[in-house]
Amino acid sequence: MKYARRLVAGTLTAGALALSLTGCGNSVDPIERLGRKAASDPGASASPSAPAPAASGPSATPAQGDQAYRKWGLTAPVQYAPKPDRKPQLPKGAPGKAAVVDRIPVAPTDKVVFLTFDDGAEKDPEFLKMAADLKLPISMFLTDNVAASDYGHFEKLRDNGSGSTVNNHTLTHPNLRTLPFAAQKKEICGQQERLEKRFGKRPPLFRPPFGNYNDDTLKAASECGISSVVLWRASMQINDFQYAEGSALKPGDIILAHFRGPSELKGKTETQMTARMLQHIQEQGYRIGLLEDYL
Ligand SMILES: [Zn+2]
Repeated sequence: MKYARRLVAGTLTAGALALSLTGCGNSVDPIERLGRKAASDPGASASPSAPAPAASGPSATPAQGDQAYRKWGLTAPVQYAPKPDRKPQLPKGAPGKAAVVDRIPVAPTDKVVFLTFDDGAEKDPEFLKMAADLKLPISMFLTDNVAASDYGHFEKLRDNGSGSTVNNHTLTHPNLRTLPFAAQKKEICGQQERLEKRFGKRPPLFRPPFGNYNDDTLKAASECGISSVVLWRASMQINDFQYAEGSALKPGDIILAHFRGPSELKGKTETQMTARMLQHIQEQGYRIGLLEDYL
C-alpha cells in the first residue's frame, strides 16, 4: 500500500495536466494506467475458480435471427452473455471505502466484455436507434454539466429494454486528485442527488473523470452510497481500441467509450464509432455482458 500511495502522489502533477483535456481525454494515458495499477488488487485478476456463466454459447443469444445488425454495418449478430447464475467474487473495498474494479474476474475461458459510455455531451438520435435495434447493454456514466441539457436522451437509452443503466461521473468532470475530500464529496454526492431526482434512483456505480482518484475519492464515494468505482481496461478511440496492457481484449474487460460526435471523432458519427467497436469485439470472439449482472 505504501508503494501504491507513492505512485499516486508522484503522478499528481502529471494528473493535473489531464485537466486541460476535454471530456475524459482521448486516451488511456500512462498516468491513468499507473493510477489504476496502484489501486488494483491482485485478487482482481481472473480466477480459475470464478463461476462459469449459465449454459450458453454463441448459439444461445437473444440476437440470433435478428437482422438488425446488417442495418448498422455489422456482418454478424452481436453475441450477448446471459446473466451468470452467480456473481463472480470481487475484491471488497476497505472498510468505509468503495471497491475499485477495472475487470470482472470471470473464468479465463469466459469471453465476455462490458460496454461503458461516459460523459454525455453527444446526444445522437441515431445512436438511440442503434442501441435499441441491437439491444446493447450499456452502463452509462453521466456528468451533469454536459448531459443535463437532455437527460431525456439518456433516459430513452436506459429504458429501451436492453438493461442499460445510468451511473455517476461527477457534476463537473474535475480531476478529483487535485481536490480536497469535501470538494470531491460534493462532486460525487451532488451528482447522486441530481441523478436520483431525474432518474428515480441513486446509482451504485461511479467513475472518476480521467480514471484519476485517491483514497479520499473512495471514502467520499462510499459516503455517497457508491459501492464500486468502475475503471476500464480498454478504451475505444475513433477506430480502434487502446489497451491498458497487451494488444487484445481479455475475458472480463470493462470497455470505455464516450458519447461523442463528429467534432470529437474527426468526422465520424457515434454510430460509426460504435459499429467499429462492436466489430473489434466480434473479431476477437467476445460476447457482451451487462456489467451490473456481475457486480
Ligand atoms: Zn469523462
